[in-house]
Amino acid sequence: MLFRAIMDGKDRAAPALISGWERSLSYGELADATARMAHRLIALGVAPGDRIAVQTGKSAETLILYLATLRISAAYLPLNTDYTPAEIAYFLGDAEPSLFVVDPAASESAGPLASEVGATLATLGTDGKSGSLLDGLDTFPATFDDVPRGADDLAVILYTSGTTGRSKGAMLSHGNLYSNAATLVDAWRFTADDELLHALPVYHIHGLFVATNVPLLAGARIRLLPKFEPRAVLRGLETATVMMGVPTFYTRLLADPRLDRDATKGMRLFVSGSAPLLAETHRAWEERTGHRVLERYGMSETGMNTSNPYDGERRPGTVGPALSGVSVRVVDEASRAPLPAGEIGMIEVKGPNVFTGYWRMPEKTAAELKADGWFVTGDLGQLSADSYLEIVGRGKDLVITGGLNVYPKEVETEIDALEGVEESAVIGLPDADFGEAVTAVVVRTPGSTIGEAEIRAALATRLARFKLPKTVIFVDALPRNTMGKVQKAALREQAMMPQA
Ligand code: ATP
Ligand code: MG
Repeated sequence: MLFRAIMDGKDRAAPALISGWERSLSYGELADATARMAHRLIALGVAPGDRIAVQTGKSAETLILYLATLRISAAYLPLNTDYTPAEIAYFLGDAEPSLFVVDPAASESAGPLASEVGATLATLGTDGKSGSLLDGLDTFPATFDDVPRGADDLAVILYTSGTTGRSKGAMLSHGNLYSNAATLVDAWRFTADDELLHALPVYHIHGLFVATNVPLLAGARIRLLPKFEPRAVLRGLETATVMMGVPTFYTRLLADPRLDRDATKGMRLFVSGSAPLLAETHRAWEERTGHRVLERYGMSETGMNTSNPYDGERRPGTVGPALSGVSVRVVDEASRAPLPAGEIGMIEVKGPNVFTGYWRMPEKTAAELKADGWFVTGDLGQLSADSYLEIVGRGKDLVITGGLNVYPKEVETEIDALEGVEESAVIGLPDADFGEAVTAVVVRTPGSTIGEAEIRAALATRLARFKLPKTVIFVDALPRNTMGKVQKAALREQAMMPQA
């Protein structure tokens, strides 16, 4: 369905995937390559409905493998390249794939993992040439009749990032992928004239679906960079028209003196998501480049839910209104009654983008994907009178101290505004008197000597007493994953360990 729509009416000669600055694959070549790969997967014994687990580096071939999986109606299961064999063992045991594709360098450690679950092992390198998956590929026909699939059929099992606990396999249907991509092509005005600069990993919803499905559906070209690296990204900006990034892309580019108006003059759109973009970063980006970053909000289970508008006001610190066809509401967590504008509660979403459930977790599915169709996101937020959503944090990160709710983001925003503070994270630590004690973890700017007493004194004039951090811990950097998400569970664990 998505694949057919991608190929529908496309110019076969138009470039689709450009690897770095060299290898370029046209839409026609992409159609042929995915057809050959589809035959190859079937020859390897993959049947419709099977899972294909993939832990490879980033390359055009990885995306060909993803699209070929859709064509044979197997389920694609991308895995974070940082996962260790012990973690992989969990995912393979949970998903029971019939094929496991890894980087050639990992074939030795992956062998026993694959045999444990009865999966065939294949390898795929990032140079377009290496790996057993490519063996004999040329001998297969360049045409393939896609295995017919309905909108509700399983297309992908996407494990969540594991920020709040063990990763869950979100089951996304062909309809989920297609509807979200089509909505975003319209919302962000993608056309065949666009070039998307792609420096994200391709095992996560952001890089795999938003930054791949959307430009391909529009007939645009994608420039694939192996990873985020400022010099390469600045070079890519010379010909690109759109970049999608996580907030750390923007802060790291801002730290580079070469970033200016001239470096971004051919760009029409910068999109940010996966983690909160500080309002301060939004403003600094506009000041330096003249572009207003468009922030949007989504997750593995739903694809994208809200987006700041393409035309109209892109409001810093918010993720914009619901996308067309998607419903977003903020409810009282206990009663699930919708709350009026300006009140903080649980964010729920509903629409054709919402997943069909968690893989082999019927209880979790029943608890979070309600019978009335609303998905309980686990994120807390508030809607403005004109329906812009502001995320205030994760439900699991809410600090309850002496029976009162403290929203970490409110305290973090105040701390971040202090001279001498680079960034901060506010967490709750167990406390005999208060249940939880508000604790601030702070990164100082280089050369700053700001201390706990100064921070507490400065906040005392701005925040109610119960919101003030009882303790301030100084660190060199906040723990973040590759998507730029602050790992608060890890911070809580570290902070609770006895100091050496
Ligand atoms: P897990 O569900 O395993 O704990 P995760 O929620 O981090 O991990 P993802 O599905 O990758 O896994 O991330 C979705 C989450 O990312 C959202 O629920 C939200 O908390 C956060 N997020 C995404 N975009 C934004 C944004 N623009 N601003 C703030 N948070 C965002
Ligand atoms: Mg989540």
